[in-house]
Order: sequence, then C-alpha cells, then structure tokens
Amino acid sequence: MQSKKYLRDGRSPIPQREITSRIMSSIKAKNTKPEMLFRKALNKQDLGGYRLHPKNVPGRPDICYITKRLAIFVHGCYWHRCPYCKPEMPKTHVRFWRQKFLANIKRDRKKEKELIKNGWRVVTVWECQIENKASRYVKAIKKVLVE
Ligand SMILES: [Zn+2]
Repeated sequence: MQSKKYLRDGRSPIPQREITSRIMSSIKAKNTKPEMLFRKALNKQDLGGYRLHPKNVPGRPDICYITKRLAIFVHGCYWHRCPYCKPEMPKTHVRFWRQKFLANIKRDRKKEKELIKNGWRVVTVWECQIENKASRYVKAIKKVLVE
C-alpha cells in the first residue's frame, strides 16, 4: 500500500517528521563544517580568543570576541540563502520551503539588528566564500580586533 505521505499532488501532506529532523540537523547545528574551517583560519592567524555560541550574547552568534564586541556568523549557503552562490530552490513543496527560507532570513536579520543595537559589530561569513576568501575575512576581523 502506497503511503499517503507521498501522494504526488503538490498539496499533499509533507512528511513532517522528515522535514523537522532535516531542519533541526541543518539550521540548529553547531560546529558545522564551514564553522570549523573558518575557526581554523582564525586560529592560524593567532585570533583564537573567541567564544562559541555564547548564551549571554543576543542571537548566540557562532563566533564571538566578547570584549571587542565582534560577532561572526558563519552561514551555510543553502539554509541561509546565500546572495553569492544563490542555491537552487527545492523542486517540491516549493511554498513550504520558500516560507521556511524566508523565516531563516528574517531570523538572521533580526539577530543582526539586535546585536548592532547593543553596540556589536557583525560579520557574516558565507560557506562558499571560505575556501577562496577566508584570508580576506580574517584580515578584516584582525583589523577590528587590533583597533
Ligand atoms: Zn554561497
């Protein structure tokens, strides 16, 4: 018997559990591969004095230099909808995903606003930019830190 969850009708119910777990493992994940890569780049430049996802900082940024009030978000291109590589939209459940992605973007903006309001500087590092441009990001961060 065919499961109702997989009717081909676009309005068919979405296998909720599957989606939830995908979202949980992708958005809420900490210490993602791009995060690790970027942390390595910072460490190499002797910029290791950061805290990770600190609870006492609005939005719990991925990497924080607390005393310098510098917050860094390392964004996965797919979930945060990268403006550089513009990842493809899913082909099914388009409306659902569009809403999800919009919510992610909104949440990111809200976090950034909140931080800036509290006197933080915010740097967003995109996954696809790390490989070739990590040093450029690191340079900019170093400049802020030695000010
Ligand atoms: Zn990207």
